[in-house]
Amino acid sequence: MTLKINFRALLTQCGEPIENGELIIENGTILEVSPQISQRKTETTLDLTDHLLMPGFVNAHSHLGLTALADKLSPSKSFAGWIRDLIPVNAALSDDERMKGIQKGAGEMKNSGVTGLADFVAEPGLLDPIGGAGFRSVLFLEIIGFQEKRARDLADEVETLLKSQGSKWTLGIAPHAPYSVSEKLFLQLDKLAKDYGCLLSTHLAETDEETLFIEKGEGPLVDLLKDRQALDENWQAPAKSPARFLKSLGILNDMVAVHCNYIDEDYRALQAAVFCPKSTQWFGRSHFLPVRKMLDAGIPVGLGTDSMASNDSLNFLEEIRVADKLLPDVSRKEILSMATRFGAEILRFPSGKIKPGQKGDLIGFKLEHGYRGDWHDVPFEPQRKKVDFYMINGKSQACPS
Ligand SMILES: [Zn+2]
Repeated sequence: MTLKINFRALLTQCGEPIENGELIIENGTILEVSPQISQRKTETTLDLTDHLLMPGFVNAHSHLGLTALADKLSPSKSFAGWIRDLIPVNAALSDDERMKGIQKGAGEMKNSGVTGLADFVAEPGLLDPIGGAGFRSVLFLEIIGFQEKRARDLADEVETLLKSQGSKWTLGIAPHAPYSVSEKLFLQLDKLAKDYGCLLSTHLAETDEETLFIEKGEGPLVDLLKDRQALDENWQAPAKSPARFLKSLGILNDMVAVHCNYIDEDYRALQAAVFCPKSTQWFGRSHFLPVRKMLDAGIPVGLGTDSMASNDSLNFLEEIRVADKLLPDVSRKEILSMATRFGAEILRFPSGKIKPGQKGDLIGFKLEHGYRGDWHDVPFEPQRKKVDFYMINGKSQACPS
């Protein structure tokens, strides 16, 4: 099927904005982008001559399975304290609450323009509901296991899932964090990711408590692991920063590293990172990912919502606005690249840019009549709570009012 979309403006994410043009999509793939509207006849024509179009947003880090935790947690002074609060309320969720949360969260993301998703999935039973939510997605199998003796069994479980579910969904592997995954398990999961050609992602250098734990073997995370009987007696702190620890294992450069609030100059060793603006704000972080330096070094940085355990909504338009507030030295044009092209590059999606050969994952914003401002400012307008046009793989979907 061939579709023609006439638009007022288009942010391609691979060139200057195009005005008053048309876009041809054939069987879900972009065939042509033209700076003028032709008389060409196609099976379907959409008149979006009062819209700004752009690639759909890519939420590069989320946990849809935790959406039902909305309003159940509050920022604690201690990160370990927040984890202590999270564990019982998460365990107490019924299956029904969790499923409704996933649907609600997915709906909120879609309404606000998310077409691509990287989700950390903690239970195999959640692969179908999250994978089936309709996004272009990577489902990261989230693994926790700090005791060395569990490493082999946990890696085997991941391999079984890669074999049984890998043809159904695009899977990735997510060792949860350096304070919750043993060195041995990190190495085994890295090997599996290489053997199966899948992406690896982890929460890294999120807090000073993590740094204290990995550098010195001290602080509230030690007590948390001890209380959970997860700390091996003979465990020795690696005596380096979390990023340098993963670097010493030879796996930092294989990672999509999430958060990295305490990274120093080691950011140069990252292959890709994800910044979670509203989660950062929710925790009241004063340190965060050196986004400006990373972009200057040519390292792609995506944006993520993280979960409702550390956010008050999964609305992606709010994420880009908070990114704009937290990153005064990063332009709105660059924030939109992080929200689209970089996220797609990091996750190996054939989308995120509007050019021939890319998939038709698009969003649109209805413009005020006679709009004269910068096109890049439109998605940041504070009154916008949702997108006005939404398309995945060349198929448009209704935007609820
Ligand atoms: Zn997370």
